[in-house]
Amino acid sequence: MKRYSAFAIAREALRHHTGWERAWTSPEPRQRYDVVIIGGGGHGLATAYYLGKNFGITNVAVLEKGWIGGGNTGRNTTIIRSNYLQDPSAAIYEKSRGLFETLSQDINFNLMFSPRGVMMLAQTQHEVRGYTRTAHANALQGVDTEFIGPQRVKELCPIMNIEGPRYPVLGALWQPRAGTGRHDALVWGFARACSDMGMDIIQNCEVTGIHSEDGEVSGVSTTRGDIACDKLGIVVAGHSGRLAEMAGFRLPIESVALQALVSEPIKPCMDVVVMANTVHGYMSQSDKGEMVIGGGADGFNNYTQRGSFHHIEETVRALCETFPVINRLKMLRQWGGIVDMTGDRSPILSKTPLGNCFINCGWGTGGWKATPGSGWGFAELMVRGYSPLTAAFGLERFREGRFIDESVAAGVAH
Ligand SMILES: Cc1cc2nc3c(=O)[nH]c(=O)nc-3n(C[C@H](O)[C@H](O)[C@H](O)COP(=O)(O)OP(=O)(O)OC[C@H]3O[C@@H](n4cnc5c(N)ncnc54)[C@H](O)[C@@H]3O)c2cc1C
Repeated sequence: MKRYSAFAIAREALRHHTGWERAWTSPEPRQRYDVVIIGGGGHGLATAYYLGKNFGITNVAVLEKGWIGGGNTGRNTTIIRSNYLQDPSAAIYEKSRGLFETLSQDINFNLMFSPRGVMMLAQTQHEVRGYTRTAHANALQGVDTEFIGPQRVKELCPIMNIEGPRYPVLGALWQPRAGTGRHDALVWGFARACSDMGMDIIQNCEVTGIHSEDGEVSGVSTTRGDIACDKLGIVVAGHSGRLAEMAGFRLPIESVALQALVSEPIKPCMDVVVMANTVHGYMSQSDKGEMVIGGGADGFNNYTQRGSFHHIEETVRALCETFPVINRLKMLRQWGGIVDMTGDRSPILSKTPLGNCFINCGWGTGGWKATPGSGWGFAELMVRGYSPLTAAFGLERFREGRFIDESVAAGVAH
C-alpha cells in the first residue's frame, strides 16, 4: 500500500490524481478464516488491526451487514476522554486516549485527533463532590484531570453563561488532553491498514447464524454464504443481544436509541468540549464550524436509528440556557444510533459460554473514545485468553455482583 504523505499529494496533483489506490479491497468471502469478527464498526476493525499488528494474525475477516462505520461509530459526537472513576475503566480509556495521540502516524491516516480539552460542568453541590472525587481518583490512576472553579470555566469558554438561569456553574472537571477525533477517518484508516495486512473487509454481509461443534464455535452463516472459523469475535453494539441469542446465551444488555444533531456552520466561537450533565446537553464545534450537539438516550428499548422528539427539545433547551449565543442557530441534521447499555454502564469484553467465541459490547453512549484501547485489549483476550485491560469486564461480573459502577462518568455523559 502506498503511503499517504505531502509528497504523495504533490505527485498525484501533477498526474491528475490517477495514481491513488483503493483504500481497502472488497473481496468475496473465503470459506475459512482463523478469526472472524462480526461488526465493521470501530471496535471490530480495531480488534482486527491489533490482531495483525500485535500478534501477526492476518487470516482474518471482518463481516459487516451494511457499510463499515455505518453503526454507532459513524453516528457519534466524537468526544474522547478518560476521566472515569473506577480503576479498570480509567485504565482502558486512558490507554485508548494515549493510543489516539499517535494513531494517525501509526496507521498513516489523519484521524484529526484534536486534544482541545473537555470539561464536565458541576451545577449542583452533588456534582461538585462527585467530580472532586473523580479528580482525586484520576490523580491516583495517572489520568491528568483537575477540578476548576467557575471563573476558569468562563476563561476557557467565554460563550458560556455561568450564572444560571436554573443552575449556576459551580466548577468543572477539566481534562486538558481530552478532545475529539474524526470517527469516519478512524474506520477508514483501520480498514485500510487491515486490508494492507491481507485481511478481508466484507461489507453487505449480515451474519444470520452461528455454528458450533462440541461446545466450540465452528463458523457463521451469512447472507453471502457459510464461513468457517477457529475463533469468533462478536462486536455489534446495539445488535449484541440478537447475536448472543444466535450463539446460545443471553446478555444483560438493553438497546436504546441515542441521538445527536448539528447546526449550520458558524465562525469559531468555542475551542473546548463542554458537557452539562445536570441540564443534560453537551456541545463542541467541528472544524467546519457546525455546533455538534448531543443529549440523553431514549427511556425505552428500541432499534430505530432516529430517537424521540422530546429529547431534541430537552437537549436544545439545556444548551440554549448554557450558551444563550446559540439561541437563533438553525439545526441542519439530526440522527440516532442504537446503543447497548449495561446496568453498571461499563462494557463487556469477555469469553462467552460458547468456546472460542468472544464478545465486545456494552459501550453504551460512550464507546467511541475507547475504540483503539478496546481493540488492543480484545485482540489480546482473543489470542491469549486473558488481557489485563479487559480482565475486570467479563460477563461473570453480573453473576458475581462485581459491578464497575460508572453511572456518573458514563450514564449521562459520552
Ligand atoms: C448519537 C451518539 C453519540 C455518541 N457520542 C459519543 C461520544 O461523543 N463519545 C464516545 O466515546 N462515544 C459516543 N457514542 C457511543 C459510540 O458511538 C459507540 O459506543 C461506539 O461507536 C460503538 O462502536 P462499535 O464498533 O462497538 O459499534 P458500531 O459502530 O455500532 O458497529 C457495530 C457494527 O456491527 C454491524 N452489525 C450488527 N449486526 C450485524 C450482523 N448480524 N452481521 C454483521 N454485522 C452486523 C452494524 O451494522 C455496525 O456497523 C455515541 C453514540 C451515539 C449513537
